[in-house]
Amino acid sequence: MRLYWVFFLGILLTCKPLFSQAPRKNTSSDIFHAIQKLNFLGTALYIAAHPDDENTRLISFLSNEVKAKTAYLSLTRGDGGQNLIGSELRELLGVLRTQELLAARRIDGGEQFFSRANDFGYSKHPNETLKIWNKEAVLSDVIWIIRNYKPDVIINRFDHRSPGSTHGHHTSSAMLSYEAFDLANNPNIYPEQLTITDVWQPKRLFFNTSWWFYGSEDKFQKADKSKMIDLDVGVYYPLRGVSNNEIASLASSQHLCQGFGRLTTRGSENEYIELLKGDLPKDKSNIFDGINTTWSRVEGGEEVGRILLEIERNFDFTQPSKHLSKLIEAYKALMKINDEHWKAIKKKELEDIIQSVCGLYLEATTTESHTYPGSHILVNLEALNRSAANINLKTVSITNDNPLVQNIILKENKKELIKIDLEVTANTSYTSPYWLNSKGTLGMYKVTDQNLIGKPETPKAFEVTIEMEFNGFPIKIKKPVVYKYSKPEKGEIYQPFEILPEATAGFKDKVVIFATSEPKEIPVTIKALKNNVKGELQICFGKGWKVDQEIKSFEIEKNGDQQTLHFLVTPPSYEDENYISPIIKINGKEISKELIEIDYDHIPKQSVLLNSKTKVVRININKTGENIGYIVGAGDEIPESLEQIGYKVVKIDPISIQAGSLNKFDAIVVGIRAYNVVEELKFKQRYLLDYVKEGGNLIIQYNTAGRNGLDMENLAPYPLSISRDRVTDETSDVKILANSHAVVNYPNKITKNDFNGWVQERGLYFPDQWSKEFTPILSMSDEGETALNGSLLVAPYGKGNYIYTGLSFFRELPAGVTGAYRLFANLLSLKQESQK
Ligand SMILES: [Zn+2]
Repeated sequence: MRLYWVFFLGILLTCKPLFSQAPRKNTSSDIFHAIQKLNFLGTALYIAAHPDDENTRLISFLSNEVKAKTAYLSLTRGDGGQNLIGSELRELLGVLRTQELLAARRIDGGEQFFSRANDFGYSKHPNETLKIWNKEAVLSDVIWIIRNYKPDVIINRFDHRSPGSTHGHHTSSAMLSYEAFDLANNPNIYPEQLTITDVWQPKRLFFNTSWWFYGSEDKFQKADKSKMIDLDVGVYYPLRGVSNNEIASLASSQHLCQGFGRLTTRGSENEYIELLKGDLPKDKSNIFDGINTTWSRVEGGEEVGRILLEIERNFDFTQPSKHLSKLIEAYKALMKINDEHWKAIKKKELEDIIQSVCGLYLEATTTESHTYPGSHILVNLEALNRSAANINLKTVSITNDNPLVQNIILKENKKELIKIDLEVTANTSYTSPYWLNSKGTLGMYKVTDQNLIGKPETPKAFEVTIEMEFNGFPIKIKKPVVYKYSKPEKGEIYQPFEILPEATAGFKDKVVIFATSEPKEIPVTIKALKNNVKGELQICFGKGWKVDQEIKSFEIEKNGDQQTLHFLVTPPSYEDENYISPIIKINGKEISKELIEIDYDHIPKQSVLLNSKTKVVRININKTGENIGYIVGAGDEIPESLEQIGYKVVKIDPISIQAGSLNKFDAIVVGIRAYNVVEELKFKQRYLLDYVKEGGNLIIQYNTAGRNGLDMENLAPYPLSISRDRVTDETSDVKILANSHAVVNYPNKITKNDFNGWVQERGLYFPDQWSKEFTPILSMSDEGETALNGSLLVAPYGKGNYIYTGLSFFRELPAGVTGAYRLFANLLSLKQESQK
């Protein structure tokens, strides 16, 4: 069977965020726009690497002004970045950013695709990127998406000719697109894809350039523009009362976890796109010039086009239902054409328009947000015809059930409510992001079902199919089953309806460190996802570890309630890394998942099921001192990590710092980017330096330099300049420069082995210049680059020590990296020679 990719109709909604779960409520202007799009048969695909890379001005312009089918292919889901609005990181951040991209597309009218590539963190060069990603697999995904979506034009965000000048993911996205442009049409390339789709040759490949890529506006002015197209994307849409750039700003403002909320802009603005492959359009204001984008590009399409163009020319904004019979005529003509690609796309668009012109309201909702496999749930179907059109609701069905005969004539403005019993069979899959269901690699998600590759999210679990007759003509309409409720302070809310286990179990801490052989109590929290859940929880653990009682029983009365069980875990006497995981047993069924909910106002609520486990690490670690003061920066989990190895950590409010107030601490640690985000520290830095002078130990973690970066005279007691130097390869070789320095000898002897097992990177924003008082302790570099010695700098000051480090302790300690703990304990324990 061939698979045709049909996504939502790009009807524009600019008034307020509207989740994809809520039924669309289209004005006459929306319908007219949809009819104009129906009459344009051209497709554009924009390609880049991350959520937020995409140029929403251009995507909105192509979708709303040109009326093209327009999509953004983001190779990754942005899993490796930071989160400004919550605690989601890594794959959970990828889930959040996926939804932010979908929210942006709902506003700018584009569609959204992804490859299986995982955003593993910053990469300096495409050579590194394409090694960590499986290049062949990502290329195959790009080709797969091109073959399915069949774009006439492809636009790259980045330049494939300048590796090393930007993030390696960026250049890689352009290089892969450049390669895929020709390969997509070669039947010998990824031939297995051709059992489900066809080869495809796009006509033109562009690079969406700008002065930024030339270094300055001045240089760009002088650049050769003979192969460039110049589009004014600042157009105004009188039917909607907004201009293109306002839509684009609203769309990119959905990237809230990246801090992209911004003001809207208006007025003329140019976008430049440079031709890389294919012929240069004669009309340099039209990227589709010379490409047939009318109905005549499809064999037998002229008849459909003739009818639809007539509707477009004579559209009645006050009474759109007047066009129903002509729309049905067009639908009949469409069914006769053989081009299955365009037939599937235009059929879905036409069905949506037919519903909209009749003001037909169809909504399938539950009154529960979720249920479990092997249950029944009631689905309410609301059907309302708000026109004089002759509409008959023949049958309804969910999934593959037999259709229930209804034969209801939908009279004008008379609401019909139909109740449907939905059987969720025992073998129904749980609702969870499909790309997280199997364990992937550092660079790739694992997706075995080819039909899922490229899709932004898991297809909805259940759809209601409604057989209707419009003026006696049968059309099948599908509506997803969604959950609807209201909150007094928020009003009506739509959410995805989900299939979840009967209960899930999770740990509070993802890593538990055992610095001695003493047992620790580890709590496991069970969450009931239905009423009256009763069963047992078993703890599984590795060799050398012991648990006091492996199986405990639980009983929870109410759906949503939780119960916490405590297990006493004893580590081995030797250093070891292991995992413990819970299994819930209910009536012979085993559940090993934990549930993570991602809930923000700008996206639909997401439920993510992950394998529940916690890493347990036995470290042999020596330390001196006990009381640590912590000044929180942009947020990290170092305080919790230090508590795990037995330190007492007090978070210090910078406002409370005054002369002498820090003396009770054995060491003061400053959190990541503190000097970038905590204004108060500028005024309190002298007390921190006085603390060092009096014999204290001050450890400052990385701050960013450069634009919007640090501007502080007294960051250190001696000259120190922060750069953008970083080492991104977490396995890169580390050399100990200062072998006899206390920081690598006391109380733990640090060796090369302590740099094994690090995650994501070595460190970032290392100083590149420092005065002679500083001793550089370590040397490291990424492959083929000169060695950097600024990752860890120590300088005695007065009776104490000032330590500046860009090493990524904020990633390594929460990940349970033994060597990082040992080195950090040495930083905290550091004393000047005379004080030992
Ligand atoms: Zn990017």
